[in-house]
Amino acid sequence: MDGKGQEGVGNKKVTLNPGDVFVCPDCDLVVPRIDINPGEKLCCCRCGCVLDSPVENSAEKTMALSLTGLLLFVPAIFLPLLTLDIHGLENTGSIYASVYSLLDSGFVFTGMAVLLTSIVIPLVKLLLLFVVSVQVCMHKGNRATVFMFRLYDKLDEWEMLEVYMIGILVTIVKLFHMASIEYDTGFFCFIGLLGATLLSSSMLDENYYWDVLYEACRGGEQGQNSLTVHDAPDVVEERA
Ligand SMILES: [Zn+2]
Repeated sequence: MDGKGQEGVGNKKVTLNPGDVFVCPDCDLVVPRIDINPGEKLCCCRCGCVLDSPVENSAEKTMALSLTGLLLFVPAIFLPLLTLDIHGLENTGSIYASVYSLLDSGFVFTGMAVLLTSIVIPLVKLLLLFVVSVQVCMHKGNRATVFMFRLYDKLDEWEMLEVYMIGILVTIVKLFHMASIEYDTGFFCFIGLLGATLLSSSMLDENYYWDVLYEACRGGEQGQNSLTVHDAPDVVEERA
């Protein structure tokens, strides 16, 4: 294991550092880590799950995209998205106005769900990603940074900007022949926000981030948080 692991062949004891292996999230197979280049993928040999997919300058790209998303956030949420003109009756609305309308009409549960998944969680995710990316760019980090990155990971499945976008597209398609539709500034800001959010997720190289945070938190102490395997299989000993 690159000379970092400690081994005792006699009593079959192998110590692995966190950077030496991947554990497949789908089938739990422990796979030795291999350095690959940006654009290549390391897949699990048992189930084919992608274990590593490095991105060049991941922290810089993710930081720029999350900052773009933050700058577009306020106009995308508060400015009108569309103006509908049906036989002279004009109606316009923003994401914030739709949430307010739901809450004001008594649909508290639905309004809170839309508020959380379309406004609060996307904003918190962008803030967390920006702060963590700045730390990773500077090769710094502490327990708070680790907590923020873990929280970002947990919140990932609760963001539903894409669902809101599908709702807008359905509205446009349904009313296309019945109403005159005008696209307002908020619509284009929302498209930009959605693009920046999706691109920042795709540019995020989680393995690289964890490596940097681990090194920063470890503070030069060798062997801390390492995994010791007793009675390890022969193939692990040969690689070590
Ligand atoms: Zn697998």
